[in-house]
Amino acid sequence: MNTKKVCILGAGLSGISLGLSHENKGNQVTIFEKDLRVGGVLQSIKSEGFLMDYGANTLSIRTKKTVDFLKQYEILEHAMDANQESSKRFIIRKNRIISLPQGPLSFLCSSFLSPVGKIRLCLEPFIGRKKDNGSDESMAEFVERRLGREVLDYGVNPFIGGVYAARPESLILKYAFPSLHDTELTFGSIFWGMIRGGAQPSEKISKSRLISFREGMQELPNRLAARMHNPPVLGCEIKKIEFKDDVQWCVQGETHDGKIQKEVFDQVICTLPSHALDKIEWVGINSSHLLETLTRAYHPPLALAFQGYQQRQIKHPLDGFGFLVPEKERRKILGTLFSSTLFQNRAPENSVLLTTFIGGERNPELCDLPQNEILGHAFRENQDLLGIEGKPIFEHLKLWPKSIPIPDHTLEDRKKAASTLTLENKGLQILGAHINGAPLPNCMVL
Ligand SMILES: Cc1cc2nc3c(=O)[nH]c(=O)nc-3n(C[C@H](O)[C@H](O)[C@H](O)COP(=O)(O)OP(=O)(O)OC[C@H]3O[C@@H](n4cnc5c(N)ncnc54)[C@H](O)[C@@H]3O)c2cc1C
Repeated sequence: MNTKKVCILGAGLSGISLGLSHENKGNQVTIFEKDLRVGGVLQSIKSEGFLMDYGANTLSIRTKKTVDFLKQYEILEHAMDANQESSKRFIIRKNRIISLPQGPLSFLCSSFLSPVGKIRLCLEPFIGRKKDNGSDESMAEFVERRLGREVLDYGVNPFIGGVYAARPESLILKYAFPSLHDTELTFGSIFWGMIRGGAQPSEKISKSRLISFREGMQELPNRLAARMHNPPVLGCEIKKIEFKDDVQWCVQGETHDGKIQKEVFDQVICTLPSHALDKIEWVGINSSHLLETLTRAYHPPLALAFQGYQQRQIKHPLDGFGFLVPEKERRKILGTLFSSTLFQNRAPENSVLLTTFIGGERNPELCDLPQNEILGHAFRENQDLLGIEGKPIFEHLKLWPKSIPIPDHTLEDRKKAASTLTLENKGLQILGAHINGAPLPNCMVL
């Protein structure tokens, strides 16, 4: 076997899973990570008995590929399924918290949509497919065309706010939800597609799962990194990458204590966030102007307000995943997760933990407020909607000045730039959430 020396930049989920995949191929892998821990966006913090996730709260398992990945590294046996109660989800409509329908009967009785909105939704199977295949169609255009304006405003707008901290108008359907795009192409309708198991049914598992871990999502990269022959080099920020004589990659980093580390590799795989790429000095790269294109991914700012209460302080039973807020409701928050309902051990006994999302593409300016004001907005909105008495017994804020990369109209150019750079610089690959997509399964490579 021809062993290659492979350098991977970044020990987030993308970097570690690529590292494992290359080790399995017999390559000699070194991962460089600027922080003193692995995981990148995945970070779990415990304070005063409350367990908080700064990045992803859950991993959604829907495909065989994700199951195979987790089985291969013996991760699945450590997974913790979300409590059954959390299959119930809420939205806000006319200042009230309303549960989303979970079946045809509850759909008919639900006040989530008006009678006109429900009729429009039911017309979906009779709407013809778009003639030009809707190649650059936004999520908002697709939903309004097939399901009607009300589903866009009260279903999809809050959902996209919760998943991407973005607006459906900014997301390009074929990148953000390729299976929905393919379902329309294949079956002409989402309804008929669902009846027939959707596009590529063989890749899906019969019962999807929503999981986390006892120690929070940080456990996933920790467990994966522990399986590497060569553990990631922590606390080493890569500063310079030089492509020499069209064959060799000279990688230079600086350790936390100011020492310069230099090493030569056959391959460099970069999984850094797009906003970290222009902090590196790239030397001798062909078509280096394309690196600038890669930095254009928009990551809306996002604040996560963690607030703990005694159970008895909250009138609402918190019997669900949480609630999302449609933009039309003109509130300061995007939504609140009922974190301690979702998974056990997220709060001390008789206490609950709420995680409230603020800012995003909808209200980026709110992330510039002082921390106590952001926490104050979260508290007042939850107080009003959930019937809270008294003040939180625990508060903590995590601010992401750049949160989740949006699969927007710039993604096509960014993907082309990444593949051209690979073609023109032997041994270079640019991957990661800004190219492959932000959901965790997209960051897992077998
Ligand atoms: C608030 C939030 C909530 C989310 N919720 C979910 C969710 O519920 N479900 C879901 O599926 N996905 C969710 N996501 C998305 C998902 O968590 C991320 O897309 C994914 O974790 C990104 O992994 P990555 O390895 O590509 O990038 P990162 O995790 O960003 O890893 C990149 C690594 O590179 C390191 N680095 C940067 N510069 C350098 C340098 N110069 N030298 C060395 N190292 C460097 C960083 O420190 C970092 O460790 C969420 C994201 C956020 C921000």
